[in-house]
Amino acid sequence: SFAEKARHLVEFPNGEHEALTNFINNEFVPANSKREMDSVNPATGKSWIKIPDSDREDVDRAVKAAQNAFKSWSTTSVQIRSKLLMKLANLLEENLDGLAEIESRDQGKPVWLAKAIDIPRCIHNFRFFASAILHHTAPSTLIEEPVKALNYVKHDPIGVAALISPWNLPLYLLSFKIAPAIASGNTVVCKPSELTSVSAWLLMHAIREVGFPEGVVNMVIGTGQAVGEPLVTHPNVPLVSFTGSTVIGKRIAEIAAKWNKKVSLEMGGKNACIVYPSANLQRDLPIIARSCFINQGEICLCSSRLFVHESIFDEFLKGLISEAEKLKVGDPTSAESKLGAMNSEVHFNKVKSYIELAQKEEKVHCGGVVKMDGKCENGYFIAPTIVTDISDESRCMKEEIFGPVVCLSKFKTQEEVIERANNTLYGLSATVWSSNSEELLNTANGLRVGTVWCNTWLTRDLNLPFGGTKESGQGREGAVDSMHFFTEAKTVCVRL
Ligand code: NAD
Repeated sequence: SFAEKARHLVEFPNGEHEALTNFINNEFVPANSKREMDSVNPATGKSWIKIPDSDREDVDRAVKAAQNAFKSWSTTSVQIRSKLLMKLANLLEENLDGLAEIESRDQGKPVWLAKAIDIPRCIHNFRFFASAILHHTAPSTLIEEPVKALNYVKHDPIGVAALISPWNLPLYLLSFKIAPAIASGNTVVCKPSELTSVSAWLLMHAIREVGFPEGVVNMVIGTGQAVGEPLVTHPNVPLVSFTGSTVIGKRIAEIAAKWNKKVSLEMGGKNACIVYPSANLQRDLPIIARSCFINQGEICLCSSRLFVHESIFDEFLKGLISEAEKLKVGDPTSAESKLGAMNSEVHFNKVKSYIELAQKEEKVHCGGVVKMDGKCENGYFIAPTIVTDISDESRCMKEEIFGPVVCLSKFKTQEEVIERANNTLYGLSATVWSSNSEELLNTANGLRVGTVWCNTWLTRDLNLPFGGTKESGQGREGAVDSMHFFTEAKTVCVRL
């Protein structure tokens, strides 16, 4: 059963597991190639489980299964769909602790964080959309001219959706796609990141156990090149929902345009954090530090460019360094560790290279690579790193680092800081910190991003749109927005 699988994975952290398999038509099947790859625990640097190295053949089979299931699933009542999603949420909740441990081992994040955020939010996503479909209303009108008629709008599911997700919040972000996609009557083929596929594989066990019909949810594990791209180019996949980097998102948009596929893109960020003199630093500095460094800075919404008013710059810097130093980096299984390991060796080296760049040109106040002892001696650890004296044109200020590295810069006026905050290719989110409501609102209104948080961070209401402007995204996710993406509105006019 799902619970037994989860328990077994938790109890044997160092291997001794069967290799993961793809999930097609409610069956667990090995990749067509019979090849496997390693999934590495980034805290130890060691492979802990094998995953399939799938290819186009596997994609074809999964798409066929999803296509076959579409007719029946798309006409299944919302009440039945809702019940299955609720059951799934409940089953996941019963196994929350095990899922959190596995997510941490595969991703590098602290177990306590996966227990507090990743898994609860994944469960919430399934519950939320299970409920949302029961309360969805569409407009209808009665008209007199040119003929008497009743108009109503139907939101029809579209077909097979490709759901492609990244490695930073593996189960949470995948569930934010699966839940609305199947709730609204589509069938899906999921492609989790090849760096973090284990929790998604467990989710497939839960999906089978609660009784989803075969073919509604399918999953193919493998690389972006071998699995992601064949999925995006598949002629029978009319929908692609992608979360990941801007480079890959733009490539997907380009490929998908050939078939005029519907595409939703959630991509990178380089988020500004604007701190005015009246900010309540005593209350909010720990939250600002969290917004910079939590999940090792591997959240697309993390603050990375901090603009601090010159009158409070020194005080703020001192305070932020002190908060950063409190964030102990260490073994993700320890409750003491506030930050765990960077997700992979490649990513660790990328983040390290930005710190080295900053060391050459700017001032680095704290942080850098951390060497561990014991079982984590070969893990990929980086402590919260704060950079100052940096130009807006430097690479550290312009490029997404996606690690626990932030750049601080001084500003003088509101007009100046809005312009500088907007001076980026990205537009995902921003935070503004001030006790002056006019200042907060004027700044929020001036920022060209998808989400602005004022005196808070990462507070989310799924009823509201989420997404990015410019090179951070295309389209929005959320209750109504996700339902609109995963359906086609059809207006029906009936002459009376
Ligand atoms: P990535 O773009 O490298 O990979 C994302 C997914 O796309 C993976 O499953 C990958 O295998 C797949 N992929 C890679 N090449 C592909 C191709 N040619 N065709 C189809 N699929 C392909 O991103 P990542 O490194 O896994 O994740 C980190 C990035 O994700 C960061 O840039 C971060 O900002 C972004 N992100 C954005 C959001 C958001 O909501 N906007 C949320 C989380 C992460």
